[in-house]
Amino acid sequence: MSKQKMIKAPRGTYDILPDQSYKWAWISDKFKQVAASFNYLELVTPIFESAQLFERSVGDQTDIIEKEMYKFKDRKGRLLALRPEGTAPVVRSYIENNLRAGNSISKLFYNGPMFRYDRPQKGRYRQFYQYGIEYIGTADPFADAEVILFSDYLMSGLGLEKYRLEINSIGCSLCSEQYNKALVTYFQRYTDQLCSDCQKRIKNNPKRLLDCKVPNCKSLADNAPSMLDYLDEKCQEHFEQLKSHLDSLDVDYIVNPKIVRGLDYYNRTAFEIIDIATEAQTALLGGGRYDNLIEFLGGKDTPAIGMAGGIERLIAAMEKENLPFGEQPKPDIYVINNDISTKKEAMLVTAKLRKNGLKVEFEIEKNSFNKQFKAALKSGANFTAIIGEDEKNTDTVTIKNLRKEEQSRYKNDEIVAIMNEKCKKHR
Ligand SMILES: [Zn+2]
Ligand SMILES: [Zn+2]
Repeated sequence: MSKQKMIKAPRGTYDILPDQSYKWAWISDKFKQVAASFNYLELVTPIFESAQLFERSVGDQTDIIEKEMYKFKDRKGRLLALRPEGTAPVVRSYIENNLRAGNSISKLFYNGPMFRYDRPQKGRYRQFYQYGIEYIGTADPFADAEVILFSDYLMSGLGLEKYRLEINSIGCSLCSEQYNKALVTYFQRYTDQLCSDCQKRIKNNPKRLLDCKVPNCKSLADNAPSMLDYLDEKCQEHFEQLKSHLDSLDVDYIVNPKIVRGLDYYNRTAFEIIDIATEAQTALLGGGRYDNLIEFLGGKDTPAIGMAGGIERLIAAMEKENLPFGEQPKPDIYVINNDISTKKEAMLVTAKLRKNGLKVEFEIEKNSFNKQFKAALKSGANFTAIIGEDEKNTDTVTIKNLRKEEQSRYKNDEIVAIMNEKCKKHR
């Protein structure tokens, strides 16, 4: 066979390499710990869904649907999409599996890859990893406070300090109607100064002009009317209660009326946690209330709130603050066969230790003691178990503590109990 050209990973994707993957695991574990303390249960949905699910919920005039969704036909011509976000699938599953039955409240979390055909750049990928929670079944501002508190615990649990919580209320559809009118009136005066996207947004979804990253639009948005001046009495009351709960919980926040969230289905509470370690001040996570989405997707009228964030951004923020991610996994014991004739005995000792839950590496390729010993040191193991001719003949194993330079010989049938004890002390 002739040498073939190497195949590379698709543009915008990356491999989580073995010396990095423990960071992902560590963050996922932390997230799951916080989820457990707030009594959330995991919901795992498919990576692909009917494309319609996202078109209907996210809104077909959003960037996600217009430009970024991986949409394809399967072999039977069904229109499918790789999930670009996590809330719509959770809601689809909630309705389809009747998760409401018997519970007034469902608290669900998810964690996995999402896909968007975005322009790849540092920290932004076409396959990225997102975690999120959904608190379904209540419009009570206590739920909003809990979801925000969860987000805050996640950040502080990871050790992050340089972040800021920003909250807003974008009102209900009634307040939005008034507010949208005010926005249109305001921006219409500057139509020729807006970017082409915003010229479209002004007709379809004027709130999204506040989100535009184009400098000209941004400076115009600075003086735009504030949503908070357009909240009706009920939405105002909801927002005041949320703020009062956050004050009681000692959660620091600022009110930022510019937070609108990119997706169509949000109402009332919207919030972001902003990374203030970098000048870009990107959002580490974001969330909001979506009281109409469940009914909109064919379920019963059920209010809900959730949040989601990307793991890549958390890792970048943690690296910037020099925070630990736990440790890269390493073996407890490295088994060395002192002689080629004792390789089989070494394999059996290895098997026995592994079966009893110890983390054990066994050198297969190298036969010289020195080479095996060097490999043991490099592996980071705390102990080596040495089996040479002498050990084989006396049915013993020599254990060397690589940290203390001490060694002793033990009976082979006692080795599991002894090593369990020794390794426990080292963890
Ligand atoms: Zn309202
Ligand atoms: Zn713009």
